[in-house]
Amino acid sequence: MTYSLIDERLKQGKTIILDGGIGGELQKVGAKMDKGLWCGRCSLDSPDKLLKVHNNYINAGADVITTNTYASTPISMKKYGYENLIEECNLKSVEIAKEAADGKNVAVAGSVSTYGYFLKDGVENMLPSFNDHLKILSNSGVDLIILEAMSSQYDIVETLLKCSKKINIPIWLSISCVFDRNKEIYLGYDDDVKNDKPQIYENFKDTLHKIKKIHSGPILVAHSNMSVTEEAIKILKDNYKKTIGAYPNRGYFEKPEWKFSDNIQPKDYLNKAKSWKNNGAQIIGGCCGIGLEEIKAISILKN
Ligand SMILES: [Zn+2]
Repeated sequence: MTYSLIDERLKQGKTIILDGGIGGELQKVGAKMDKGLWCGRCSLDSPDKLLKVHNNYINAGADVITTNTYASTPISMKKYGYENLIEECNLKSVEIAKEAADGKNVAVAGSVSTYGYFLKDGVENMLPSFNDHLKILSNSGVDLIILEAMSSQYDIVETLLKCSKKINIPIWLSISCVFDRNKEIYLGYDDDVKNDKPQIYENFKDTLHKIKKIHSGPILVAHSNMSVTEEAIKILKDNYKKTIGAYPNRGYFEKPEWKFSDNIQPKDYLNKAKSWKNNGAQIIGGCCGIGLEEIKAISILKN
């Protein structure tokens, strides 16, 4: 499908349902995770399982499904010895997602993430990788690009956004957030089990004022815990007058697998999603640890 249907529904004030985590669902159906590339190689190694995961999300009510390209960034593929598979792996991911969405009112979002990018390596070294990833995915027939700036400092987010300016399809931006000691919202993450202190970067509100000078598409709070998401959505609503959304996570990363924790029931997830919706979130889904049952539960919000 084209993006116009999604855009139209957003303009009408409706809610768009995004899929949940891909890696976690691939784990559940028995796909093998790669030490370095996590679920990135599944597109090549377990294409049938990936197709099943996408189909399951569509049947659960997702309006937008995300390509399994979060971990197959050119920079991480080079790092883990898969340099010769960058294009093949990413294009295969798109092909599978498009096969699942074919003939349905479902859009395919190409995930361009910050997986494997570190500020200490220098922003200038990120540019070729971001550009390559954006080029491969935007030319592959996806309906939109979702920039998944997880666990990233502002300079990385800014670099990614600037690279995306060359792309002619809709761009969504997602950011992960944490609380600091004073319960203020910062860019950062806290899902590394070996590190009990959250990584805290820039103040979220201050960052938003910088971001909105270079980005006008939807902004989503993603890969953040539920309570952080609740507060971050309020800040987003007050400081960004365009489309906003949320897709939080649950659990933590213990490479190469995502560990599911704190047993939240689908109905509880729906209640939380209702609250994000009441605070202005129009695009709602799930990230790592949020799966089919939760997406199915929240799919009633689109009506
Ligand atoms: Zn996640």
